[in-house]
Amino acid sequence: MAVCGVLALQGGWDAHGKILRELGAEVRTVRTATDLEEVDSLVIPGGESTAMLRLMEPGRMSARLTERAAAGMPVLATCAGVILIAEHVDPEQESLGMLAVAVERNAYGRQVHSTIAEVGLTPEMGAPARMEGVFIRAPRITRVGPRVAIMGHLREEPVLVRQKRIIGATFHPELTNDRRVHELFLKMAEERHG
Ligand code: GLN
Repeated sequence: MAVCGVLALQGGWDAHGKILRELGAEVRTVRTATDLEEVDSLVIPGGESTAMLRLMEPGRMSARLTERAAAGMPVLATCAGVILIAEHVDPEQESLGMLAVAVERNAYGRQVHSTIAEVGLTPEMGAPARMEGVFIRAPRITRVGPRVAIMGHLREEPVLVRQKRIIGATFHPELTNDRRVHELFLKMAEERHG
């Protein structure tokens, strides 16, 4: 079985781990570049992208993560995770450039303005064509590259995207009961492994 990694430097990693275990996956926390070698896929949770970036640097994890993703390792990034792997961040901030999107940080307002909204889904996500999305100081995807498929949108804007085996959700699928995003991620991880 493929081993699922959850980046556990900061932020909401624990909830992802619980869900993946409930879905039958073998899960390991990833805190160092060495841990990263032990897993076949990786969840990058929400939290603070700046804090996560800082914590990644000393272990040279970011370089290795970029290499692994380029080689096809499945990645599920949520909220701050999307900021971390985006190609371009506004206001400008360092990022790993693994997902061909431009994002605007904290675009939906301050924490108090965070919201729960219905995300519209494409057929690839199965039925029903809607999913509850929890947005917490979420980034806004302002541009997507040609190889990026949009799988979910909120008021015409992309909030769930996929580029090959990299899934990005600007909301928090780990905070609701709909498991389709995690199931898709596990399916990609098993296909890649098997
Ligand atoms: N605003 C956070 C950031 O810029 C992301 C918020 C979240 O992950 N819930 O990193």
